[in-house]
Amino acid sequence: MHQIGFTTAILHSDRQRAVEHGAVHQPIHTSSEFAYEDARELAAVFQGKAGFTYGRQGTPTTTALEAKITGMEQGAGTVTFATGMASLAAVFSTLLRKGDHLLSSHYVFGNTNSLLGTLSELGVEVSYVDPTDVAQVRAALRPNTRMVFTETIANPGTQLADLAGIGALCRERGLVYMVDNTLTSPWLLQGRSVGASLVMNSLSKYIGGHGHALGGAITDTGLYDWSNYPNIHDSYRKGPPTGWGLLQIKKKGLRDMGGTLSADSAHRIAIGSETLALRMAAHCSNALALARMLDAHPGVSKVHYPGLPSHPQHQRAAELFGQRYGGLLGIELAAGVDCFDFLNRLKVVLMATHLGDTRSLALPAAHTIYYEMGAARRAEMGISDSLIRVSVGIEDQADLLHDFDQALSACLA
Ligand SMILES: *Cc1c(COP(=O)(O)O)cnc(C)c1O
Repeated sequence: MHQIGFTTAILHSDRQRAVEHGAVHQPIHTSSEFAYEDARELAAVFQGKAGFTYGRQGTPTTTALEAKITGMEQGAGTVTFATGMASLAAVFSTLLRKGDHLLSSHYVFGNTNSLLGTLSELGVEVSYVDPTDVAQVRAALRPNTRMVFTETIANPGTQLADLAGIGALCRERGLVYMVDNTLTSPWLLQGRSVGASLVMNSLSKYIGGHGHALGGAITDTGLYDWSNYPNIHDSYRKGPPTGWGLLQIKKKGLRDMGGTLSADSAHRIAIGSETLALRMAAHCSNALALARMLDAHPGVSKVHYPGLPSHPQHQRAAELFGQRYGGLLGIELAAGVDCFDFLNRLKVVLMATHLGDTRSLALPAAHTIYYEMGAARRAEMGISDSLIRVSVGIEDQADLLHDFDQALSACLA
């Protein structure tokens, strides 16, 4: 049977349901509340029938985006949130309880690191492990481990977890396996293919793609049998057990905590997602060309990029991502090149945090996003003082190569 492709599915997903007047986009529904002709129908929706009641629990606009993301991940269902952080906070706080153990990758996004600190203050045991080696992950499991969490490609060091190995381990032990797919996006990796139970995507990054809307999503891949999971409330043990986890994340995460994605942002993200595949191809090819150029440049001492054969997990990346390696690189400058001088000389690249934008962005990682955690934790995460994080955009390749070369050469002169 013919299988519809990645981009075709995204482009045509709104038309699959009835849209008024033949509109090709789902409208931006601004209603806070949804009214019913029949009070029994209102009660039925409160009691679990599909439908809308109050905008905090979702609108037709967020639901349409959720369907798109479920399709991209080939998952069973998705819930969206106001930001990627809101989605992570919703998962950890709705599925973990005091005394549970969460095993996390050492190499996580700075704000996630901070969130995990909050979680441990609330009584969840959190410990960290090098996820590039599944033997270390196995050795770090405890009798009370409930969940294993890793990012696909970590930033800014670009360490690549043994994603499939950890998936097999979690399956064997009946553990929930959550993967943060933000750096790869479902175009490079579908969480399902490595055995993830839950996949998180920050929609603010590649999926939205244009730096003009924040959002986050949790997709359940349908692989985990939630009837084995002790922390599901009786009220959410309804329907097939593959759906229980996401129901609890949605009910408690959106209804109780309220980090809801606005309809306006959902619409912008949905439009951005239409070109995800085209943009990712450009991000990946620009990043590979830039990594190769910088690797040979006297102004640079080290380039962290999974596409370089010298990267410790190059082979794994080539197999998992089909010879494409993402849009993010870490560069360490040669002794004598000051990271602030270098950044100030860039003309095309913006000095800004964020990643996955169409524009190239760069920042000095230790002095900005990883500043608050302190030198000891930075050392553990392999973040040196001269490390520059670059989110490679989709500009014309020659302009990017020229910009980095002129800035480095001026610093060396
Ligand atoms: C940006 C990011 C997040 C958080 O997403 P927001 O939408 O900015 O809240 C989480 N994980 C990774 C890997 C990220 O890059």
